[in-house]
Amino acid sequence: MTAVALDVQQSSRPHQQPRRDGPIPPRHRTRRPNGTRWLPVTVAALAAALLVPGGSVSAAAAAASRAVDGKALLAAAGDVQDWLTYGRTYDERRFSPLNQINTDNVKNLGLAWFADLDTSRGQEATPLVIDGTVYITTAWSKVKAYDAVSGKLRWEYDPKVPGETGVKVCCDVVNRGLAAWGHRLYLATLDGRLIALDRETGQPVWSKLTVDPARPYAITGAPRVIDGRVIIGNSGAEMGVRGYVSAYASTDGRELWRFYTVPGKPGTNRAPHLKRAEATWKGEWWIHGGGGTVWDSMAYDPRLDLLYIGTGNGSPWNQAYRSPGGGDNLYIDSIIALRPETGAYVWHYQTTPGDTWDFDAAQHMILADLAIGGRPRQVLMQASKNGFFYVLDRATGELISAANFVAVNWAKGVDIKSGRPSENPDARVDRTGKPFVVIPGPGGAHSWQPMAYDANTGLVYIPALEAGFPFVPDPHFQDAAQGFNTGMDFAAAAMPADTNIRAAVKAATKGALIAWDPVAQKERWRVVFKGPWNGGVLATGGGLVFQGNAAEEFAAYDAVSGAKLWSGSAQTGVLAPPITYSINGEQYVAVLAGWGGVWALAPGILSQVAGPVHNVSRLLVFKLGASAQLPPAPSVPPRPLDPPAVTGTPAQIAEGAQHYARFCGGCHGDAAYGGGLLPDLRRSALLADGGGWAGVVHDGVMRSQGMVSFASVLTPEQIESIRHYVIKRANEDKALGDK
Ligand code: CA
Repeated sequence: MTAVALDVQQSSRPHQQPRRDGPIPPRHRTRRPNGTRWLPVTVAALAAALLVPGGSVSAAAAAASRAVDGKALLAAAGDVQDWLTYGRTYDERRFSPLNQINTDNVKNLGLAWFADLDTSRGQEATPLVIDGTVYITTAWSKVKAYDAVSGKLRWEYDPKVPGETGVKVCCDVVNRGLAAWGHRLYLATLDGRLIALDRETGQPVWSKLTVDPARPYAITGAPRVIDGRVIIGNSGAEMGVRGYVSAYASTDGRELWRFYTVPGKPGTNRAPHLKRAEATWKGEWWIHGGGGTVWDSMAYDPRLDLLYIGTGNGSPWNQAYRSPGGGDNLYIDSIIALRPETGAYVWHYQTTPGDTWDFDAAQHMILADLAIGGRPRQVLMQASKNGFFYVLDRATGELISAANFVAVNWAKGVDIKSGRPSENPDARVDRTGKPFVVIPGPGGAHSWQPMAYDANTGLVYIPALEAGFPFVPDPHFQDAAQGFNTGMDFAAAAMPADTNIRAAVKAATKGALIAWDPVAQKERWRVVFKGPWNGGVLATGGGLVFQGNAAEEFAAYDAVSGAKLWSGSAQTGVLAPPITYSINGEQYVAVLAGWGGVWALAPGILSQVAGPVHNVSRLLVFKLGASAQLPPAPSVPPRPLDPPAVTGTPAQIAEGAQHYARFCGGCHGDAAYGGGLLPDLRRSALLADGGGWAGVVHDGVMRSQGMVSFASVLTPEQIESIRHYVIKRANEDKALGDK
């Protein structure tokens, strides 16, 4: 209980009062249903909540509805009932002081209720809980609201994202969650819209397009709201875009500021931070876009009034094409501090200068105050995709420490004084022109899956991956109008149909939940998983760490020792981060179950390291003593592997291999080995039907399901060569015993 008291105390004296658009109405104090504490609710807010379109009074609204304002978000650490913002608090710790479910009784955790979702694509969202309602986003940017106790569906909203948008995303048609402000929710859609929804009804209030639809931008991340400014970035650096983050007025969606993370063409850069960055680029980077997308992580320190954003990789990956001759390429792979009111640059720290390996710095950032070297430090922590755990001074951006949390071979370490990595020259494939198996690979040592920080244990819990990738520079790269533009030769990197090589690579590919001491920069414990792709993390005052994994289980671990104390079958892989909330004195733990994301699409046979993982998309909600049961797990036998005989010429098959790797493998799996989420082309009936194959790939007859026409980048002959390549691959795998 000490943690609860401490958090409430800290959050009750914020240094900065939130600004408001109008006069501040008198405050009334409302008793929380669980009687734990008092929260301020404005009269105007209550009055507004009672009104629904048509002028009638909504019973649900009358029962309980409050404005999520700056004060509520600043006090979120002590709000044990709700989960108001993506990372639970602006410092994004994903720690709840709730301790009703604890190390002693977690063995009695049971399923309270569940809700089936109408999709078999990935689930990555963090639910929000406000006044007894759970709000989630699911694949294709759909939103659903449930009664938090009974699981009854209250409303749902479908922004009707066109299926063709699917080709603009590297890593599944996922959405990571909502933001709340006032009586509205804010949703960013896959096709780049920011939409305000009425929280009580799910009706859209306004919608604003935040991207150029002619470019391959997409949004999978969750917005944040600071003082009425809705902040959202985007993704697309695999395809070729210029990264930025923007702020929109919560009231009407008007754009307030936009911060570009990489410079445009010289002469067009007015912002001082972009003018300074120009000198770190060479060639004509703006033609490719440059990258540096703000596709996931943000954090906010209200005392310093700094918004932190993490930027992604350069576009294309291969620096020899992006910025021939080198340069740091600011501000790709950087953590940047901005003023949330204006979007003005304050400081940056670049984790991977001149990145050539798809090492983002867009991973989860956590803010905490730590005693380091005998003095208190205000830090920002990130377990980067590049394998190093960074501790920065969040007031200045100074690097305090960095250490690798998994095996890495691209750098020997990070020089604290300069803040720069000591690179392994062999890993610089853009300069050597030679292949090199880089560890970690582009899937990272840590991707978007959120970590958690427990101040009681002093540990950060990292959902980590151990995986390498053969980077082969493409000597003939040219930008394509559609699909991945990386400057790497994925065909040369494809997994060979060789049992020994496959077994060796599988053995070296795994996942881990790592408990990391950020002061000592040392691992305290680790739980190792067979599959690399494991779920986001929640830590609680009950001394527990909750996480799902690829072995289709959802589990609770002892936060101090890592001992597994409880687990339940989710009947599917679990990637999304759990949350916890409390209603009427009862603690609940909720998680979106459902397999997806990049590891379910691109890595081919490596996506099966933990065995075939199914997607059964559901919201699962647990509490002590509950005994709801899931229906029997669905049986999903794959279509038989029964390809036609190889008829393509060796030249056709070799050409097909190139085009497949460039345009198809990102979704249908490396070396045509399907990951189970999207059609496994080796098993397609169209392999024996050249006309039908062309109908899909050239004419785009399945565009509404996300399979667009590739006629703009592939000729009919090239499309036919891909069919011959997949037939050959299917026959190879059948000969190896696949069924
Ligand atoms: Ca990337």
